Amino acid sequence: MGTKTATATLLDGRAIAARMRDEVHRAVAGLPERPRLGVIWFRTGASELYKAAQEREAARLGIEVRSEGYPVNVPAAVVEERIAAWNADPAVHGLFVHQPLPPQIDAGRLSTLIEPRKDIEGIHPQNAARRFFAKARIGSCTALAVMELIESTGVDLHGKEAVVVGHSEIVGRPVGMLLLDQMATTTVCHLGTSQAGRLEEHVRRAEILVVAIGRPEFIRGTWIKPGAIVIDVGINVLPDGRVVGDVEREAARQRAAFLSPVPGGVGPVTVMMVMRNTVEAFNLRQGGGR
Ligand code: NDP
Repeated sequence: MGTKTATATLLDGRAIAARMRDEVHRAVAGLPERPRLGVIWFRTGASELYKAAQEREAARLGIEVRSEGYPVNVPAAVVEERIAAWNADPAVHGLFVHQPLPPQIDAGRLSTLIEPRKDIEGIHPQNAARRFFAKARIGSCTALAVMELIESTGVDLHGKEAVVVGHSEIVGRPVGMLLLDQMATTTVCHLGTSQAGRLEEHVRRAEILVVAIGRPEFIRGTWIKPGAIVIDVGINVLPDGRVVGDVEREAARQRAAFLSPVPGGVGPVTVMMVMRNTVEAFNLRQGGGR
């Protein structure tokens, strides 16, 4: 799926999301009641944009969003109380906390507080363990979006060299696991790789490259292996207002076979994954199973 150019085929996240929308819409229509998603977000520009995109999509699909926005200096206890209240509320089926978290909120602790069946990002230790054993029903929305974009290329990952740059709990690590599940030979790079001066060497041999670091156009186009699939997760707002990814886009397009643009690549598919996971959470609660 995508627009063929003289260079890389751009992976059209909006088109992929539109295809998924029909599927999720049918699933919602078949439910006995409207699924409800509780969203906790922190008042930053990026979070506000993401929240708005989630609310737009939810409205289209008939999913109800209850959202609670906090200033970035909100005490952790306030957020924890909100999570406990939504955990206990049978009318709320899914719970999503925007990241990055303010520094006073500990991600490890927070992950243990969300009721596992309502955990839309799959961060609760129980869900993380399920992912480890390739048995997750709900997983990181961004990681699932990355896999959806890769799948749209039709390329079989079996035995391919995959390199993930970034090892955060909600993006890099789960992407690494999902690539392993597809039998790709997977390397996960991070700050240590860069500090050792070895990032370029890893990127150069990647047949599948996923970058999620949050640094504007940090990955040089000339590092891209000709014919690679490049999934750029990064969202960076430049001082002039332009939004760019973590990969030097125009130069990468000259070498890659497939490239996910920023904006319009991973982002719209991630939002749709949040919606799909909300339906899944509703079904888990209805079925009572896990
Ligand atoms: P985090 O800040 O949690 O993680 C960034 C990761 O990048 C860390 O693992 C860090 O490694 C690594 N890193 C930082 N600098 C370097 C470097 N110079 N070389 C190699 N690795 C480096 O961010 P997220 O994973 O949450 O998000 C990453 C990006 O993706 C952001 O731009 C974010 O906005 C975007 N994003 C986009 C989404 C979408 O739907 N499109 C959804 C979620 C995120 P270390 O820990 O070792 O320092």
